[in-house]
Parts: sequence; structure tokens; C-alpha cells
Amino acid sequence: MARVYNFSAGPSMLPESILNRAAAEMLDFEGSGQSVMEMSHRSKVFDKIAKDTEALFREVYNVPDNYKILFLQGGASLQFAAIPLNLMNKNKKADYVLTGQFSTKSYKEAAKYGEVKAIASSKDENFSYIPKITKEDVSEDADYVHICFNNTIYGTKYPYIPDTGDIPLVADVSSCFLSEPLDISKFGMIYGGAQKNVAPAGLTIVIIREDLIGNARQECPSITDYQQVADADSMYNTPPCWCIYMCKLMLEWIKTTGGMEAMKERNLKKANILYDYIDSTDFYINTVRKEDRSMMNVTFVTPNEELNAKFVTEAAEAGFVNLKGHRSVGGMRASIYNSMPIEGVEKLVEFMKEFEEKNR
Ligand SMILES: *Cc1c(COP(=O)(O)O)cnc(C)c1O
Repeated sequence: MARVYNFSAGPSMLPESILNRAAAEMLDFEGSGQSVMEMSHRSKVFDKIAKDTEALFREVYNVPDNYKILFLQGGASLQFAAIPLNLMNKNKKADYVLTGQFSTKSYKEAAKYGEVKAIASSKDENFSYIPKITKEDVSEDADYVHICFNNTIYGTKYPYIPDTGDIPLVADVSSCFLSEPLDISKFGMIYGGAQKNVAPAGLTIVIIREDLIGNARQECPSITDYQQVADADSMYNTPPCWCIYMCKLMLEWIKTTGGMEAMKERNLKKANILYDYIDSTDFYINTVRKEDRSMMNVTFVTPNEELNAKFVTEAAEAGFVNLKGHRSVGGMRASIYNSMPIEGVEKLVEFMKEFEEKNR
């Protein structure tokens, strides 16, 4: 069986060792006589999986003690509404920074619940850079400031953590979760879907400072009220059991391969291999401002649309799949999340070189 290198923006690759382990445990998890897929979430066996996952997350990602880790469903997209419903609770105002499609979606969703202000945007240059935000840009009466830390579609990432003073900073980290060490204490809350870096699709993770919990708005659905979910240890209702188990395997993998520092080193190495090659030729162009380049999503174009299409087709035939850029930006995008092996990127660059030689 030949496995492909999957450069999809999500769901994405998982380490083969994890897939093999899950396969080996599929029919009988640790002598329980059941698959994790079949287990009651109230069973002792699953309760241990859930608790171990949380403890491991805290350890591996260095989550401070005064932050809750919540395991939810509904994707990052449900959080676009859950955030204002939980946190837009004092002045019913919030600041948003617009750096692409997801941040714009979250801004529009929040506008249903209060007064939202776009305090900065990079739309003027097709979201190819990250605006510099200072404390002075933040509204004094904002209940929180929302940013999208890594912009999956445009291939940009904040090279800094904005200082918002006493106003809690909330960040969508869907496409950079667990990709490098992060000083979580600088944020009021971070959140993301797991399907890019952490686990299969179906799990959403919220990490939130405890003092921000407990003042959800009256109309906030219980299922997404952080207090109620935290009080129930993320089992207010049935959690995505299988995904939580896969998340645990992923965390174990990160831990045994050197932890977050080593993860960053590998991710940076992959990104540099690609960017260095793109920068060395005028055949491929990356239009993102250099200091704002994403380590996870690398966008590039060839000299014309026809060649872009040809590239995507021929790459797929050679075993490099899902390289087509998002429909709103065109071109190509290589998503090189945690589980993409270094050799996948090296081989892609080999392919890019050959393609250039044949088509320039
Ligand atoms: C993929 C993605 C989303 C959407 O996530 P869902 O889990 O599909 O709701 C939101 N924000 C960012 C930055 C993403 O990359």
C-alpha cells in the first residue's frame, strides 16, 4: 500500500505510528474487550483516557494551572458564537483584528451579539501581512480582543503576541495548535479545531483562564457555556471520545519525540526547506510579507493560472495531494502540520524543481 503525502489544510495527516497503534487497539483497548469507539463515556476506562489526555495536554503544552482545558465539539466555528456568548458580558463590546477569512467570520458572528469593532485589518493588501497592534489600538471598554493567530488560507502568522493590557486576548489557534511552545499566560483564551495539528476532525479545544469563566450571557446555550462544561469535566454531554483518545496518542507522540521545542524545530525545518527553495527561484512566488510567514501553511504561485492547475494535477499523480490553494486566493498551498514528515517536504521540493525545469 502506498501512502500519499497529504498537504491538506485540514483534516490532515497523522503520524503512521499513531494510526498503527489505534489499529492495534481497535478491537480491544487495553483488555477492556471493546474499542474506544464503543465505550461509554461514563466508563472507568474512558474516564482514565479523558483525564490522562488533559494531564498530558497540560504537561506537553505547558498550560498554566489557572487555565481550564475544555474538550468540545462544533469546531472553531461554533466558538465564533460561543466566545461572545461567554465573554461579551460586561459592555457587550469587543475588538477584532481582521487578517483573513476566519477572523472575518468570527467578527461577523460576534456582531450578532454586541458591538464589534475591527481595530485593524490587512484586507488592503489581500491579507498578505499581519497588522501591528499596540495597547493604544485597543478600545478601553472592549470585553476582549480577538485575533486569528495563524491564517490558514493566506499563510500568515503573528510574529508576536499583541499586548492588550488588561483586556483579555482571545486567539483562534486552529492551524498552529501544539506546533511550537506558546506562552499561554499572555492570552485570556485560545481555541481551535483539532483536525489540523492535534487529532482527527470532531474535537475542539478551548484553553481559558479561570477568572473569565462563569459570567456567560443568559442566552448562551448550556452546551457551550464554559462554566457548565468545566464543572462537568468536559462531559456536559457526550464528548467526542474517539478523538480525545487520538489526541492522547498525538500528545504522547509529541512528548516522546522531544516535546514542544523539538516539535518547533522540526516544523521550522520543514517550513525553511520550502521557503528557501521558493525564494531561490523566480518561478515560484510567495506573496506574504517575510516576517509574517506561517510555519504551517505555505502558499505559492507559478507564473500563470494554467501552470498552477497543471502543478496541482501532476503533484497529485506523484503522490503529493491537496496542494490546491483555497478557492479565494488560488495558486497552491502546502499545509505542513505537525504530522507531515520532513521527507514529505524534501520530496515535494524535488518535485517542484523538476516541474520548474520542465515548464519554465
Ligand atoms: C480550519 C479553521 C477554522 C474552522 O474550523 P472548524 O473546526 O472547521 O470550525 C477556523 N479558524 C482557523 C484559523 C482555521 O484554520
